[in-house]
Amino acid sequence: METIVLYPSPGMGHLISMVEFGKFILNHHPFFTVAILTVPPSFNTGSTASYIDRVSATNPSITFHHLPSVSLTFDSFSSMEVVIFETLRLSNPNVQRALQEISSTSTITSVIIDFFCTPAFSIFTELGIPTYYFFTSGVCCLDSFLYVPTIHRNTTKSFKDLNSLLDIPGLPPIPSSHMPDPILDRSSAEYAYFLDFFLHLPKSAGVIVNSFESLESKSLKAISEGSCNPDGPTPPVFCIGPLLATERGRTGSMDECLKWLDLQPSQSVVFLCFGSLGLLSGKQLKEIAIGLERSEQRFLWVVRSPPSEDKSKRFLPPPEPDLESLLPSGFLDRTKDRGFVVKSWAPQVEVLRHKSVGGFVTHCGWNSVLEALCAGVPMVAWPLYAEQKFNRVVLVEDLKLALRMNESEDGFVTAEEVESRVRELMDSKEGESVRKRTKEKEAEAEAAMSEGGTSIVALAKLVESWKLPRLTI
Ligand code: UDP
Repeated sequence: METIVLYPSPGMGHLISMVEFGKFILNHHPFFTVAILTVPPSFNTGSTASYIDRVSATNPSITFHHLPSVSLTFDSFSSMEVVIFETLRLSNPNVQRALQEISSTSTITSVIIDFFCTPAFSIFTELGIPTYYFFTSGVCCLDSFLYVPTIHRNTTKSFKDLNSLLDIPGLPPIPSSHMPDPILDRSSAEYAYFLDFFLHLPKSAGVIVNSFESLESKSLKAISEGSCNPDGPTPPVFCIGPLLATERGRTGSMDECLKWLDLQPSQSVVFLCFGSLGLLSGKQLKEIAIGLERSEQRFLWVVRSPPSEDKSKRFLPPPEPDLESLLPSGFLDRTKDRGFVVKSWAPQVEVLRHKSVGGFVTHCGWNSVLEALCAGVPMVAWPLYAEQKFNRVVLVEDLKLALRMNESEDGFVTAEEVESRVRELMDSKEGESVRKRTKEKEAEAEAAMSEGGTSIVALAKLVESWKLPRLTI
């Protein structure tokens, strides 16, 4: 038996797209089995337990190996990224045990890891197992990550202090301050972890990206020509996507919002949702509410509790929000005929595919972007964390698939800005042209995943590459 081992990181967006990739391999190449190593999240991320249960129940060729949890004291870590890298680093002995277990009954053909699992990279390569990355953001971001070591060598300054436009092959000019959050400060622990990942990329057997070729042809070309990594080898890139979650649990309150959408006119509702981790301050929530009310547009809005001020709780899931106290007095009542507020979590893929949804205010997480494109829903880009500001530059300046939400230097967005951008998206010429381009991408995404499409061909090439070395541990 030939097994592909997948090692995702525990965050919602990372785990689901990798599991979907495992299912996709088996749909097209059923002679493999897939073993997925999961690490229990030690931090705030949407619950993936019911999703994993459903995948296990319906996919007998996929086995999950749940690694034991590791204990961490959050106080000592500067960011969520360091918490994740540390969680995975401490899981290395458990990974070794799981590999031995898997290899006692099958041959491991290849291992595919998330970038947060870089601390485990040498475990696999020392055993001679071809080791690939599965990259959960776009080719554009991979392009910049491959290029960062070059910038690192050419300056001693941090991105946060460079104060310039970066000229990275295959990308529009990127303001240095819009590079992904964790790499803004080169003296930080997160920068060291990320740089280590960037330096491992060329050593990998290849990088699988959840995207499709026609969306990101410029970045793909720059990578394949070697322009992003001028001083070293370039790993092969396999653009295999878009892969979206197809089986997700629903609760009663989630169904409620879909029922509400059933009653709204076609393409009339703007959906606001900020990923699995996006939390906004109480002041910002009130400002959004005022902007939405003034915009007079229909809306479906996922509201979470603001971040905890208690340092020891800052990476843990927030409590259920108390909408009455968080939103302006009388807001829910005044907007009840045209607005619906969901507490904490909505079934985003289903919502975006609903015929009543005509716009999406998004934090620009890559899964959210792909889900919007696949549903043909135009976006307003309001980045919050990780590589989302970077994604916004590409989406707005280069691909013209989103309108830009303008924030102040500290990230605050005014009610006036919310009102204008939502109106512009739903009811203006500019909004209409973004919608038109998004619909074209929807068709291209479908073609990429159809028989003979670029993503299917890329998967075939990847599987072909696995026919080279095979080892038994
Ligand atoms: N998501 C969801 N409901 C929510 C919030 C998020 O279903 O209320 C899903 C969303 O559909 C996407 C994932 O969580 O698949 C978030 O991934 P993304 O890459 O967009 O952002 P991240 O959470 O990694 O920042």
